[in-house]
Amino acid sequence: MSPKRILIISTPVGPLGSGEGGGVELTLHSLVLGLTGRGHHVEVLAPERSLHVGTVVHQTHGTLQPTAHTAHRDTPVIIPPDGVLAAMCEWARANQEHFDVILNLAYDWLPLYLTPYFAITPLAHLVSMATLSETMDDVIERAAALRPRNVAMHSQAQADTFPTLAHSVPIIASGIAVERYDLHITADEPRHLGFIGRISPEKGLADVVAVAAATGLPLKVWGLMQDQATWDAAIAAHPEAQVSYEGFLPTDDLQAAIGGCAAVVMAPKWVEAFGNVAIEAMATGVPVIAYRRGGPAEIVVDGETGFLVEPDDIDGLIAAVGRIDELDRVECRQRVEEEYSIEALAARVDRWLDVVIECHRSSWSSESA
Ligand code: UDP
Repeated sequence: MSPKRILIISTPVGPLGSGEGGGVELTLHSLVLGLTGRGHHVEVLAPERSLHVGTVVHQTHGTLQPTAHTAHRDTPVIIPPDGVLAAMCEWARANQEHFDVILNLAYDWLPLYLTPYFAITPLAHLVSMATLSETMDDVIERAAALRPRNVAMHSQAQADTFPTLAHSVPIIASGIAVERYDLHITADEPRHLGFIGRISPEKGLADVVAVAAATGLPLKVWGLMQDQATWDAAIAAHPEAQVSYEGFLPTDDLQAAIGGCAAVVMAPKWVEAFGNVAIEAMATGVPVIAYRRGGPAEIVVDGETGFLVEPDDIDGLIAAVGRIDELDRVECRQRVEEEYSIEALAARVDRWLDVVIECHRSSWSSESA
């Protein structure tokens, strides 16, 4: 494979390091490390005040986009004046001849809509969320219809939420720098559970607090406080639960903090496109107990690296917590090393981008013939 020049467009909802972009921020970092490790030249376009990610980051001025996490089916597209997303798209368009491929990570209408208008360099999209709104479904399906190779997803469950694409898009999963995560062979005593994720309605914190209340195990919560009302409601519903908010930590501190958990519990109410926190927990040896819904259901091997229970079955989560000792923490780590390393992620993305570039070249030459 020859070295490629790759431009990555980051999420426009917050600077890298703010946490507003959720798992996209970590995925972007993994992509930079993995793709440069394979000899490619990678540059990043991101909102100003983004953290350094080990390569050139073009800090872009402009108004941040609202996040799509809590969108409804009829939520319209919002394009603020002086928007950072438009500025990043414009920079990519004006500089496209300096790159072999542009990889968009923004789950937003504008870059998807622009797909066919990038004539010199193909604009590819790693879609970071499942279906949320009619407008986004429409533009994702339109981009894939016009440029069938240019759209990829993180999990099959995510792809299945876009019926016209379910069987045609590459599934890329995600990956982390496993060597930056310390394996904890045993859980800390006294035992406690973990919740890692944005405090936002779709993440299902209330169900995990209910599990803590029923089992009597303390619950430690790490993640960006995006919606205080979600936190307050979860705590108010189970005042007897021992819950502590541990803050939003940078990756190195997060990995050191979570390794002592007996298990991490994931109870998302939406179809999680992947769930980076599942592989981060497993990399530290912590098994994952999750609903059989979305990405976590593809990551967790039931009965080996965690337990999968029927969606919204809190009693099932509680029963699974009682069986944590059946799980092997070393196997959790091994699974991440095999499937979700940065190298494995970059190899999958590299293969996909080669196809994107090749198809773009052949359609270009046939159009100009
Ligand atoms: N995260 C973090 N610090 C914290 C808690 C979470 O950096 O204290 C990061 C975590 O590393 C992960 C992201 O938040 O990359 C959450 O991503 P995930 O894919 O699990 O869900 P999303 O937020 O994208 O829906």
